[in-house]
Amino acid sequence: MNSYLRGYEKILGRLIKKSFPRLKDKKIYLKEKDAPWRAHVSYFPWGLRILMSYKLRGLPKKITKRVLIHELCHLEIFLKWGVIRTNLNFIIYLFSKPYRKDLEREANMLMIKKGYGKLALDARKDNLKRGIDYPLSEKEIKGYIKENNKR
Ligand SMILES: [Zn+2]
Repeated sequence: MNSYLRGYEKILGRLIKKSFPRLKDKKIYLKEKDAPWRAHVSYFPWGLRILMSYKLRGLPKKITKRVLIHELCHLEIFLKWGVIRTNLNFIIYLFSKPYRKDLEREANMLMIKKGYGKLALDARKDNLKRGIDYPLSEKEIKGYIKENNKR
C-alpha cells in the first residue's frame, strides 16, 4: 500500500468511527486508479470497494475528505439495498442520467443529514467551477441544513 492510500485509509477510519457506524465492521477495499472521475464505489459479494482517482493525489486533504464522506454515504445506502439490488441499480445508473442524478441526490442528502451540510455547499461550488452539475440547489442544501438542525 502506497503513502497516498495509507493517508486515505487513515481519513476513512476516522470518518467511519465518527459518522458511519453501520460501516464499522464491513470490509472496504481501498484502491487507486487512473481515471477521469475522482472516486467510484462498488458493492461485491466479498466486500465494498472505493476506487480513488490518481487525480486526488494532488488535491488538498480537505477535498479528499469531502470525497470520502460522499462515497461513504453511497456505501451506507448500498448496505441498505443489499448486494443484488445495488448491482441491478448500477445497471440502471449506467444508462439513465436522471437516475444517476437521483442517486447522487440521495448520497448528498445523507451527507447533510450526517452533519456535513457545509461540505455539501463547498462541493456544489467546486463542481460548478469545474463545469459539473450538482444535484441539489444552494437553496435546497440550506433548507436541508436548517431542517436537520431542528431535529
Ligand atoms: Zn456520488
